[in-house]
Amino acid sequence: MKPEEEIISVPAPPPIDLEIFKAVQNRLKVNNPKMTPPRVVSGPNLLTGICHCGNCGGAMTLSTGKNGRYRYYACSIRARQGDTGCKGRAIPMDKLDRVVVTHIK
Ligand SMILES: [Zn+2]
Repeated sequence: MKPEEEIISVPAPPPIDLEIFKAVQNRLKVNNPKMTPPRVVSGPNLLTGICHCGNCGGAMTLSTGKNGRYRYYACSIRARQGDTGCKGRAIPMDKLDRVVVTHIK
């Protein structure tokens, strides 16, 4: 540290707005994989980690058909345990995404 008399302080405007700074800090916290599982943060699917099966409450996860041409949200309990776990629900991904986005709009 230099001697006090050699220091000249110059007031400068903050590089970013305080509200934006706070919003960014909050986003960083939410996106932190230590706070939220990475599959939820970085998953390419809009509703993964949010959408749950109406029958059993299990997570609805990506399921594909016809070599990935068709994408569904399907009950993960049924996928793991079969009919005994859950009768199962599946819905085309684009259809459910559209319904939810339209509702939010
Ligand atoms: Zn289910």
